[in-house]
Amino acid sequence: MGASTSPRLVLLVAVATVVVVFVVSPVMAFPTGLPATVNPFPNPWSAFQNLSGCHAGEEREGLGKLKDYLSHFGYLPPPPSSSPYGDAFDDALEAAVAAYQRNFGLNATGELDTTTVEQMVAPRCGVADVINGTSTMDRNSSAAALRGRHLYSYFPGGPMWPPFRRNLRYAITATSATSIDRATLSAVFARAFSRWAAATTLKFKEVASASDADITIGFYSGDHGDGEAFDGPLGTLAHAFSPTDGRFHLDAAEAWVANGDVSSASSFGAAVDLESVAVHEIGHLLGLGHSSVPDSIMYPTIRTGSRKVELESDDVLGIQSLYGTNPNFRSVTPTSPSTSSREMDGSAGADIRPGSGFVGLVVAVVLLLAL
Ligand SMILES: [Zn+2]
Ligand SMILES: [Zn+2]
Repeated sequence: MGASTSPRLVLLVAVATVVVVFVVSPVMAFPTGLPATVNPFPNPWSAFQNLSGCHAGEEREGLGKLKDYLSHFGYLPPPPSSSPYGDAFDDALEAAVAAYQRNFGLNATGELDTTTVEQMVAPRCGVADVINGTSTMDRNSSAAALRGRHLYSYFPGGPMWPPFRRNLRYAITATSATSIDRATLSAVFARAFSRWAAATTLKFKEVASASDADITIGFYSGDHGDGEAFDGPLGTLAHAFSPTDGRFHLDAAEAWVANGDVSSASSFGAAVDLESVAVHEIGHLLGLGHSSVPDSIMYPTIRTGSRKVELESDDVLGIQSLYGTNPNFRSVTPTSPSTSSREMDGSAGADIRPGSGFVGLVVAVVLLLAL
């Protein structure tokens, strides 16, 4: 074959390049005026799908990026600053993939099978699943066994709001990056907080000023100063800090649905229910880490177009173990018939309130965001 390139080939390459740049450009992140064929909500992790079938001993372009992802959520230590992760599927990556699979209830093969990759590209909370090398999402862990096979977790050290701070005030402080109106935001967050208040001795009240608030809520784009930059549509949706920090940040680039039925929202399949994510992040604000119970509020991922706002028994046990039980709380019976299939399990009424020794044994999961 000769080395010369025909003008026709050059033209083809040029056209292809223009098409690729058009499709991936971040300028295309919003739907207004776009051709219908362009998805305005590109998934930052969609390239992981090219790694399906990859296993130990292989080398494939993109594995370095997957290592960054696993490092972000606590499954690998950060790479040395001098050298980014390489694309070799080494033993450390195999162990990290297996740990991820155990946390999400998948076959712990250490291989990047299709199911594992699909789970990894799902939009999720930015808070890490593993903190300081220890995961309490692992349903076989000694910590989980101590909790009577319940799978909720705490942040390392079990931080919580102290007894003299049970009436918590929150302020919605950064809304310029979202088009959702203020009244709607107040209503959504009030409902989200009420889920946790119903189960515990905690009370929540919105206040106008951050200086009067224990908890601050805001929408941000990209790098916003806490070392946990948001990544545009999908990918990480939000993050929140453990007690008593009180910061709760949402990625302004998401196709948030704050009103109406998220399942029928037309956002190129990227619609995310704001209240569902708020209920989850409030769990972090109060001291809960991630759970490996798929139906629980504290499970790390959420499907687009879906709504999950009712505390599951695992969430209830976790939060009541920290703050006690609301005397008016009867069960986790949801208010909506469409989501009322879950029931408390037989041990749900057990008092497993942890003493300090218990909390010390629960070397929990999550950290903040590493989000
Ligand atoms: Zn989370
Ligand atoms: Zn943040």
